[in-house]
Amino acid sequence: MPGKKVCIVGSGNWGSAIAKIIGHNVKASNRFDPMVNMWVYEEMIDGKKLTEIINTEHENVKYLPGHKLPKNVVAVPDIIEAVKGAKILVFVIPHQFIGKLCDQMKPHIAEEAIGISLIKGIDEGPEGLTLISDIIREKLQIEVSVLMGANIASEVADEKFCETTIGARNEANGHIFKELMQTPNFRIAVVRESDTVELCGALKNIVAVGAGFCDGSVSSTTFLESCGVADLITTCYGGRNRKVAEAFVRTSKSIAELEAEMLNGQKLQGPQTSAEVYKILKKRDMVNKFPLFAAVYQICFEGRQVKEFITCLQNHPEHF
Ligand code: NAD
Ligand code: 13P
Ligand code: CA
Repeated sequence: MPGKKVCIVGSGNWGSAIAKIIGHNVKASNRFDPMVNMWVYEEMIDGKKLTEIINTEHENVKYLPGHKLPKNVVAVPDIIEAVKGAKILVFVIPHQFIGKLCDQMKPHIAEEAIGISLIKGIDEGPEGLTLISDIIREKLQIEVSVLMGANIASEVADEKFCETTIGARNEANGHIFKELMQTPNFRIAVVRESDTVELCGALKNIVAVGAGFCDGSVSSTTFLESCGVADLITTCYGGRNRKVAEAFVRTSKSIAELEAEMLNGQKLQGPQTSAEVYKILKKRDMVNKFPLFAAVYQICFEGRQVKEFITCLQNHPEHF
């Protein structure tokens, strides 16, 4: 049987780091087709197409400079062409773009395709919160797992040791994804509680644990996997959300200005996620129960003073 074709949907900082791993791993296993497609949101860099640069220099010079990608990873600018025949779809784009992209992909998804989302974020849905994996499931009608963990793209690309968590409702799929992405320095644990893993990944970006949002059936051991407390710590020290927030305090610039200035096209997920969560909290009359989430949102978007941050936290209902 021919190996399964893999398409990586996305090629930013994390997408490129994971492409480095996947490109390497598919060659070592006959479960996968040795050629991997990587969908690239096309842009011009010094007069040259980014896809052409990647396919000739084998480096994503904008989003992961300094790292060679395996030559079997082929950059494709057209999403329809990129997903053609792919049985394994790895979603790794900033969460705000997922809906539109799925709509474009929908008529071209191979039968029996399965997906995994590496995207940290949430969306506001009609009944509260919608997971990004749910958007993919609903739009594409495929089975979707997630991978989230204490992983900084440049460190993973440097082959520094770290762990990560796959949440897979379908255990067999979880193991296929593990074979696709595990390396000696990128260690994967597979758990069943996909939703919990995804919520951890999304909510750590606005700094706090997702426990309050989860239903009572969640096992707290999932928070001890890489996607939970470890990611919270990692992101607070080494992530982009933290870095930009620090600059926000030191300058009088907006988050959007700083994102454009400091990240060279990379996207923050924290402020957007705080806005999505805030809308949901408001609808449910629960803003007071989540003072940290609310304060992050108000400071990012409503001109609330950073110096009031601690005051906000002093008024948690638990304290009264
Ligand atoms: P990024 O922030 O580095 O890059 C932004 C990407 O978005 C670029 O590839 C750009 O071409 C693309 N883009 C810009 N406009 C677009 C549009 N209109 N439609 C589609 N794509 C567009 O991306 P990333 O770091 O790979 O992040 C993807 C996801 O991975 C996020 O949810 C992030 O939270 C998560 N993640 C990132 C890291 C990390 O260290 N970077 C680690 C773990 C998880
Ligand atoms: P930032 O998006 O804040 O860089 O965090 C990356 C990440 O998800 C770390 O696990
Ligand atoms: Ca549950």
